[in-house]
Amino acid sequence: MAISIVKEQFLQALEFPRLLIRKNVDLRDCRFNGHYVGELGCRLCDAAIECKWLTHHDEFSGLASKPLDEIAAAVDFAMHFVEALVMESQHPVDACTCEACAWLRATRRALAEFENRA
Ligand SMILES: [Zn+2]
Repeated sequence: MAISIVKEQFLQALEFPRLLIRKNVDLRDCRFNGHYVGELGCRLCDAAIECKWLTHHDEFSGLASKPLDEIAAAVDFAMHFVEALVMESQHPVDACTCEACAWLRATRRALAEFENRA
């Protein structure tokens, strides 16, 4: 598959976890308004890892111009986040029809294809 198609696929795949993470990470007490400012400012925050991801992979971060490997890594991180949420609520991922499980199945497949590319 052409690189640009894979990239487009990954960029689209990032939309769902972006919404999900925003919904699940509590940034109300954040003094930086949910904008990751680096380890110094954010090291005491429980949401630092997710927040860092959001800040670096939001719609305004120029994602499309980043290298494919970096985008794939972002998808991989998102996959683990969604996986953890789904596990917590004990969805039968292989059979479940909810958006999170459907996203997980599609994303696992896409990442596996990406990793096995020649
Ligand atoms: Zn589900």
